Amino acid sequence: MPVSGSRLPLMGGRLSVDFVNAAPQIAELSWERLIDFLDSTNIISTERGAQLLVLPQVDPQAAEALLVKAGRLCIALRKVFTAMLRKQRMAGEWIGPINEILRVTEGHDELVGRDNLWRIEFVAREGGLDWLLAAVARSGAEIIAEGAQARLRLCANPHCGLFFYDGSRTHRRRWCSMAVCGNRNKVAAFARKHSSARSTL
Ligand SMILES: [Zn+2]
Repeated sequence: MPVSGSRLPLMGGRLSVDFVNAAPQIAELSWERLIDFLDSTNIISTERGAQLLVLPQVDPQAAEALLVKAGRLCIALRKVFTAMLRKQRMAGEWIGPINEILRVTEGHDELVGRDNLWRIEFVAREGGLDWLLAAVARSGAEIIAEGAQARLRLCANPHCGLFFYDGSRTHRRRWCSMAVCGNRNKVAAFARKHSSARSTL
């Protein structure tokens, strides 16, 4: 069964920003949501997504271990991004979960030959499911390393709460999505203007 009909807000402009946006602020990241995210962002194929969806029944320990790490990574990234927006110091303990995932990408290159054609292939030191989070951790690490230069923003709609990375040429993007919050703002402004003309609200 493919993971279909995803409603994840993938408008963050960077993988790690989308990852933070994918987890609701108050609730914990669910297994289904995590797999939906990995599938929607093409980190895994839809077939792999379908296999992973049933992992909690097949190998509950492996699924739980990954979910715990994903949740920790998500919370850490949210704290880091919030601190960056407020120009506050980052606590060392927020960086730990990010480094923990980056560590799985340790490995080495090896020449692998077939029919006298040689290719360089990466051989990971650790296999396992943690690899599924590697690209997210890498993306988060890159934003952190950009420091004050990072164009990380919070949507201008105060009820939205989604982060985005402003990759626009003018650097004046205000909304997570023009189609969602941008338009809503325009409609609200229009309604305000017209209702105040008619009533004293
Ligand atoms: Zn928004």
